[in-house]
Amino acid sequence: MNGQMMQMPLLISSLIVHAERHHGEQEIVSRRVEGDLHRTTYRELAARSRRLANALAALGVQAGERVATLAWNGYRHMELYFGVSGSGAVLHTLNPRLHPEQLVYIANHAEDAVLFFDLTFLPLVAAVAGHAKSVRHWVAMTDRAHLPADAAKIPNLLVYEEIVEAASERYVWPSFDENTACGLCYTSGTTGNPKGVLYSHRSNVLHAYAAALPDALDCSARDVILPVVPMFHVNAWGLPYVAAMTGSKLVFPGPALDGKSLHDLFESEKVTVSAGVPTVWQGLLAYVEANKLGFTTMRRTVIGGSACPPAMARVFGEKYDVHVLHAWGMTETSPLGTTCAFKSQHASLDKEGRYALMTKQGRAIYGVDMKVVDADGHELPFGSEQSGELLVRGPWVLQRYFKEEAANPLVTDAAGHQWFPTGDVATIDADGYMHITDRSKDVIKSGGEWIGSIDLENIAMAHPAVAMAACIAAAHPKWDERPLLVVVKKPGAEVTREELLAFYEGKVAKFWLPDDVVFVDAIPLGATGKMQKNKLREQFRDYKLPTA
Ligand code: AMP
Repeated sequence: MNGQMMQMPLLISSLIVHAERHHGEQEIVSRRVEGDLHRTTYRELAARSRRLANALAALGVQAGERVATLAWNGYRHMELYFGVSGSGAVLHTLNPRLHPEQLVYIANHAEDAVLFFDLTFLPLVAAVAGHAKSVRHWVAMTDRAHLPADAAKIPNLLVYEEIVEAASERYVWPSFDENTACGLCYTSGTTGNPKGVLYSHRSNVLHAYAAALPDALDCSARDVILPVVPMFHVNAWGLPYVAAMTGSKLVFPGPALDGKSLHDLFESEKVTVSAGVPTVWQGLLAYVEANKLGFTTMRRTVIGGSACPPAMARVFGEKYDVHVLHAWGMTETSPLGTTCAFKSQHASLDKEGRYALMTKQGRAIYGVDMKVVDADGHELPFGSEQSGELLVRGPWVLQRYFKEEAANPLVTDAAGHQWFPTGDVATIDADGYMHITDRSKDVIKSGGEWIGSIDLENIAMAHPAVAMAACIAAAHPKWDERPLLVVVKKPGAEVTREELLAFYEGKVAKFWLPDDVVFVDAIPLGATGKMQKNKLREQFRDYKLPTA
């Protein structure tokens, strides 16, 4: 027997319809590429999203066609989130930090029909325009007055404000199957070509519901959210959808991601919650520290994308009274999988105990099931000290990659359930807290035993002279691999190899101690701000470890 409740598909457009009707007056503030601070409301943004949907129809964009963006976090990008997906097309957020050749590959693979770009990326657009064969129109996200003269070299160039203004505000969002594709994001992929993850309306709306929960990102109508995590990386962790759902004020930093610009915005707009990768917070904390500032309204920040160094969580908490919520996710998981929110029994933990728990990536939020399996695919019980590969499943976890119909990335267990193998090596404790020790490709295998490079990096990062640290496997004649610590010092700070190695004493098992330390000026970062350890491994492939 069927239930007798209304059948309403979970569509992206329903979020902006809700926002317009129920918290239309709420503000959306954006620092623009044009240089000013722009203010709008959900009501205006909803109306402009409808105009945009009409404009896309006028450009001949069909349902299911891909519409790409090369854009910062801002209100126009948010209009595209709703205008493109809401009208039945697929929003394809391109990462502007990729090399032009990679962008060309991705745009061609996705067969993008229209590409919207912020003016910052005009040179990039000029470099790819001749090669992205499917793109029929290039749209500069500005008005005519701000269009630079050299934009004329882009073929079929349109101006965002002109096409939006020319279109009618009257538009009825179409209704269709909630499993229809709404968004596309390519994985950063350290090896091979990037792969596309095609989100559906249903998966993104369910993800937004779950992301807003108190033990997840905990967003409400009283919050002022500043997503530093880019809207081109897994939908800014879903925050634009969450904010439309909950009625939070949104503050978009645009292109200005330096410590001063961010801090100014946190203070002037009374931001309560932020979210980003650890590397972003390093710049902000350095600025706040150097200028003896603090945070008046910010109470929480979500840190994920790579492991949050415990030293960073401590500085935020102890010095600035900002609680860090450590979170884990992937492009393939929309992205939210776990958050490290405490349980009631943790109320009695002392400070050290709380910070120790915060180094873990956290518990699965409802909608994501997870388990850790050994090399034979057998599940390791919660509480096992042995680490293994993390597998996940759920309605916002990838089934297969875009256009790879034949290849099945999933594994099937004895019960017939399909799981997505994350490539992360982890443990899950008795309370259900998952802890990533490594990416499987980054694991250091010494004499058959795994050494967790993330733990070794976290310890180095706690040293006051260390700005950034990566631990990689270096070839060893006896043990196959041994840990090599690669360190970037803080400007003006001094530390020697011996001092750093001594810093590890008593903190890890003896056989985990790095065999050597090398100091470098910079560690290569990927397009999403993660350390590219594969590049370091290449760089230090022939490195001769000292023989003791
Ligand atoms: P991406 O799809 O580019 O977002 O990368 C996903 C990968 O980032 C995951 O598989 C993890 O290896 C890594 N990652 C994300 N969040 C965390 C975290 N909190 N701690 C450690 N690694 C993380």
